[in-house]
Order: sequence, then C-alpha cells, then structure tokens
Amino acid sequence: MSNRKRHAGADEVPPIDLHGLVRELFPINRSLTGAGVRETLAILARYIRLEIREVPSGTAVLDWHVPLEWSIRSATIKTLDGRYLVDFANSNLHVVGYSKPFHGVVSRAELARHVHTLPDQPDLIPYRTGYYADDWGFCLTDDLWRTMQDDSYLVDIDSDLSSGSLAYGEFFLPGEVPDEVLITAHICHPSLANDNLSGIAVAVALAMRQAQLGSRLGFRVLFLPATIGAISWLARNEDHLEKIRYGLVLTCLGDSGGFHYKQSRSGASIDDAVAHVLRHSGHPHDIMAFDPYGYDERQFCSPAFDLPVGCLMRSVHGTFPEYHTSADDLDFVKPDALDRSYAVIATLLDLLNANRTYIRIDGRGEPQLGRRGLYRAIAGQKEAGGASQMDLLWVLNLADGRHSLLEMADRSGTPFSRIAKAARLALEAKLIKEVGRD
Ligand code: ZN
Repeated sequence: MSNRKRHAGADEVPPIDLHGLVRELFPINRSLTGAGVRETLAILARYIRLEIREVPSGTAVLDWHVPLEWSIRSATIKTLDGRYLVDFANSNLHVVGYSKPFHGVVSRAELARHVHTLPDQPDLIPYRTGYYADDWGFCLTDDLWRTMQDDSYLVDIDSDLSSGSLAYGEFFLPGEVPDEVLITAHICHPSLANDNLSGIAVAVALAMRQAQLGSRLGFRVLFLPATIGAISWLARNEDHLEKIRYGLVLTCLGDSGGFHYKQSRSGASIDDAVAHVLRHSGHPHDIMAFDPYGYDERQFCSPAFDLPVGCLMRSVHGTFPEYHTSADDLDFVKPDALDRSYAVIATLLDLLNANRTYIRIDGRGEPQLGRRGLYRAIAGQKEAGGASQMDLLWVLNLADGRHSLLEMADRSGTPFSRIAKAARLALEAKLIKEVGRD
C-alpha cells in the first residue's frame, strides 16, 4: 500500500502522504453545502470506500432544518472605473460564506457594514460565515481596506441560495462485534489547512489503515459539515447510537503545537484511553474538561445522546493567531505533525480494539508461574520490549472481571501494550478467561 520510508525510530507512518492530501484539498471552496463539499468527498472516495449521503434542503433534523444549498461563482469589489480590489478568484476567504447575490454601487460607509478585517493582524484575511444571516459580506486585509478611501465601490456577488441538499460522507468497516469506534471531521471550511483539512487527511489515512488491518470493533468515519451535518447524521441514526462505544472528533492536527484532548461529557472510557496513549507517547499534551462549545462533540454529547465522544487536536481552536485566517495555510500545517497525529490515533485504535476484561480461572492465591513456563516466556519477551514479571503479576491480580486491560495499565503505570502481552501469556497458560467484550 505504501512505499513511503519509515523514519528511524519514529512511530507508524501513514499509508498516504497526509500533507499531499491537504494540498490537494486546499484550493477547493467548501461551505455547509454546495459543489465544493461534493468535490472534496469525491477526492476522499478515491482513497476509501465512502458512501456519500444527500439530505434535501428543508428536511427537519432534530430542532433544525437543512439549509438551502449555496453556490458561488464569483465575488468582486471594484473601483467605479473598473479596477479589481477584491476578487474571490484570488482567495475563497474573501467572500462571507452563504453570501446572498448582490450587484450594485455602494457607498464606502455602506460597504463598511459588509466588510470584515483584522485590525490586529492587518495583513491577514479573516474567515467568516453567515449561514443563517440572509446577508452578504467580504473579508479582506485591514491593510487593503485602509487604502480604500473612494466614496463608493462596485460590488458584485454572483451566488445563489436554492433548494438542493446537504452532502456528507460516511465510511464504515464492520467489526467482529456490534460495538463501534466513531471518528468525525468537518468538511465545511474553504481554504484553511489546519482547521478541517488536517482532520480530514488523518481520518482518511486511519480508515485506510483499519480497512487493511481489519478491526474487532466496527469503525465508522464521518465527514460532516459543522453542526448541521452532525445533527443530520444523529437524526437519521438514532436507533444506531447505542453501538458507539468510543468516539473522537478530529480537528487542528497539523500544526506543531502539543496535543490537546477535550474529554467527553460524562467521563467515558475514551477519555482514559486517549489520556493513556498521550501519557505514553512522549509528546507534550494537555487534557481539557468538557464544555458545550467547540466542534461536533457538543452535538454528540448533547444530553439525550450523551455519547462517549471527545475531541483530539493539537493547538486549540480560537487560541492560535492563525485560526480562521489566511495564515492557516499550507505552510502552517507540517508534514511531521500530521504524521505524528496519525500515529497517536493509530496506537489509540489498537488499544481500543485490544481492550478487554479478564477473570482468573482459579483466583485463589498466586498461581505457580514456573510450573507453567511463564518465567521462561517472560525472559524470552524481554529483549523485544515485552511483558515483565511485574506486568504479569498485575494482570493476575487485577483479572477479577472488573478491571479492563486499560485500567490495569493505568493502575500499574505500565504501557497498555505490555499489559496486553502479559494478558496473552496468562491466557495461553489458561490462568485467565475473557468476560464480556471489554
Ligand atoms: Zn473552524
């Protein structure tokens, strides 16, 4: 599948060039709906078996309605003698998302009500949307806006808002058990690299990985426009939600900041699993408590669903200066950072798939390890970074049917992979047996 070189001593390398995929998707103009979302999904479908779903405009989903579909062909601001000052063709950030069509001469004062700039970052174009605003607007650098001192300008927005549909993408790999891991990423941002595209690229690579390796838990990946996409999916899958055992929203995974994990609403075991992987990853990281803001975790964790879904990112949305500006570009996203983000989540998926609960077959006292060849087995594993005698003692002690392997790993301060190896030895020696599924 991959002929990419494994860099020395590093983590698992993704099956595709993640930065290359980000570069391919970057120029496309995306929004909640419209051609750019479909074009993006069509590119993803070259890598993974992706079902593309269409939800018609006006469909009632929970407390919302699917909006009209937005199409934009061009948007310009010109001087009255025809000189182009702002052109959507140069940057799709220039037009406010969901701008309605407009054509006319407007005074500078009137135009000012429709112009967004960043006075503190005067050379950057902001990213703004007005999905439900019934308005139009432009985003430009403050440097440019301050040079625009004519009395009036010619504004042209060739767009339309019409009945169509909202598109999203769904990948599903069935597992050996009904329970599932859910991964989601947003697909509604135009040319922004870290916010949206990094999560999309990593999610695609993870889907390719699991399709190749197989998965004990079902593996579902959703590529959704923000909020209304998640709400549409939830509304259409209400009888399916109990199968979601672990969930993760992926965003901002390509910058060089440390990892941040925002916990689920109710402290689900995904929180322990991510914390464990980050703790043993060697990467700087922070764990953040749930709050009802951010990405689609706020939909998945709304009270009647309360799904076990957290959010993994590097730099936190809204806190880095490039966020929602033209500086969130292809240079801001680093190939190495994308690759390491992928490797961390790959390790997490292996953990989730291997996490089980065992019980001692005869739990009275310590079993005699030597008689079962277990000292020899441990000595044989040692050079390969396998289980130690201590790991085995932890497993044999905590295999009481109430501690998962992850809980054993956390309680003993041991990496999950070593505890899992010790459990395999104990299982082969018929000292433990599996209870339940995890
Ligand atoms: Zn965003």
